[in-house]
Amino acid sequence: MFSVIRIWWAKTLPTLPNLTSTLGIFLTQDGINMNRWNIPQALENEIIYRDKNCVYCGVKFGICGTRKSKQSWEHIVNDERIITRENIALCCMSCNSSKGAKLLEDWLNSKYCLKRNITKDSVAEVIKNALKNPPKLETKCA
Ligand SMILES: [Zn+2]
Repeated sequence: MFSVIRIWWAKTLPTLPNLTSTLGIFLTQDGINMNRWNIPQALENEIIYRDKNCVYCGVKFGICGTRKSKQSWEHIVNDERIITRENIALCCMSCNSSKGAKLLEDWLNSKYCLKRNITKDSVAEVIKNALKNPPKLETKCA
């Protein structure tokens, strides 16, 4: 049986920047690090490096511990099988819970976005790209 060990970076590696403080990391027996969404470590690192601010409202992820500034993994298109740099992003917990399972386009017209001036022009580049070319599930050939 494979034993899965859950490591919270905040506890084990306190010297790391606040990047992954809220993100649980899984270690599998073969040494591949996966987080809870099965995002490969390399992709996760790339996205953490890219998204320093919420991709929607632009709030800077910080250490003050407020809900607003805590980052969370976001599937831009709500399909957890699409694990690509085009579909995975980091957004604040407020935006994430507001968006929920809504379609991106619908959510951008929601009261939450209107109130905060979140529009298709104000969002991060990765979101603009997703609006133009929605990430799709690619079928892999065996
Ligand atoms: Zn946000």
